[in-house]
Amino acid sequence: MFDICKIRADFPIFQEEIYGKPLIYLDSGATSQRPRQVVDKMTEYYLRYNSNVHRGVHYLSNICTDANEEARRVVQQFVHAASEKEIVFTRGTTESINLVAYTFGEAFIGEGDEILVTEMEHHANIVPWQMLCERKGAKLKVVPFNEAGELDLAAFERLLTDRVKLVGVAYVSNVLGTVNPVETIIRKAHAVGARVLIDGAQAVQHIAVDVQALDCDFFVFSGHKIYGPTGVGVLYGKEELLEQMPPWQGGGEMIREVRFEKTTYNELPFKFEAGTPDFIGIIGLGEALKYVNAIGLPEIASYEHALLAYAMRQIKEVPGMRIFGEAACKSSVISFAVGDIHHSDMGVLLDKMGIAVRTGQLCAEPVMQHYGVTGMVRASLGMYNTEEEIDILCGGIKRVAKMFGIG
Ligand code: PLP
Repeated sequence: MFDICKIRADFPIFQEEIYGKPLIYLDSGATSQRPRQVVDKMTEYYLRYNSNVHRGVHYLSNICTDANEEARRVVQQFVHAASEKEIVFTRGTTESINLVAYTFGEAFIGEGDEILVTEMEHHANIVPWQMLCERKGAKLKVVPFNEAGELDLAAFERLLTDRVKLVGVAYVSNVLGTVNPVETIIRKAHAVGARVLIDGAQAVQHIAVDVQALDCDFFVFSGHKIYGPTGVGVLYGKEELLEQMPPWQGGGEMIREVRFEKTTYNELPFKFEAGTPDFIGIIGLGEALKYVNAIGLPEIASYEHALLAYAMRQIKEVPGMRIFGEAACKSSVISFAVGDIHHSDMGVLLDKMGIAVRTGQLCAEPVMQHYGVTGMVRASLGMYNTEEEIDILCGGIKRVAKMFGIG
């Protein structure tokens, strides 16, 4: 059962007041809040068990190592990967994509090859590929989207030649909320021999993911957007592919044997985990995923779906409202502008009412260019948001609009 009161009670931050007003947190797309269970678990490990993982023989080190590896199994099950070896811990989505760009790029990308991304990607799924293209003499190509914020699949098919070696696409756009047809994209990309990386940063907290059913080659996400800690993220990669990729960072843990003549590397996934990992963060991420599992992603998805539909209806009532992204399949994010009110003015004035939204380019400058705007205001939802909060948001936007002579 989805019990919103119980869920909100798990998040102590909702007891806080902002300028004497209740906090209305509508910025979960940037980072979610954490439930007490996650913070308690991490505190317990810091205070009672702290000890470096994988290298010790002593009691505490074993406890942390076991918890670290247990979290890996939780992640494996959460995305339904075939093996724990396919789960690499990183600092977040950005680092996961950079890891693939360097190591997959090193092994598989050469001069004249092409990498295909979409116009709606977060900078994290653009810039590492541009850097790779510069290193290797490869070419970055871009799939455009239409006014509703849906990918132009005909253009995708035209761009998908056998020169394309990798397709990078967001499962859910962090600006438009569009849920992209990743199954189709993966199937078509595989038909020309291209590999596919799915940026799941805005998806895993809203949609149940099965990497084997999707058949994606890589899937990446961040802990802090799914009710877990900052500084920890995940790279899922197919084992056969990860095996063929060289390591990225060198150091402790990623080696089997170090000799000045020649060093050999550790097995998966440790080959990609040089140095001391943020093991307490990893343990916290495992706890966050258990928390989400206990509520149930299907339940979360249906609650959020209804909340988004309500929010879209209400927000459209605001005079001068322009919504960016009205895809038929949309999740959790509403980006907008009201008349010619500057996005920062809107954000600052809403903040004074206790309402936290994000403003600016939303780490997606190409999307801003597409619509010819310098920035947007974005309200993004988490499982703890309510219709009352949406009403307060819409009331707040109307007040700001009035101040600027709209409505
Ligand atoms: N990709 C998408 C779609 C995102 O929304 C974000 C963060 O907003 C990222 C990548 C980058 O995530 P992180 O900053 O946690 O690495």
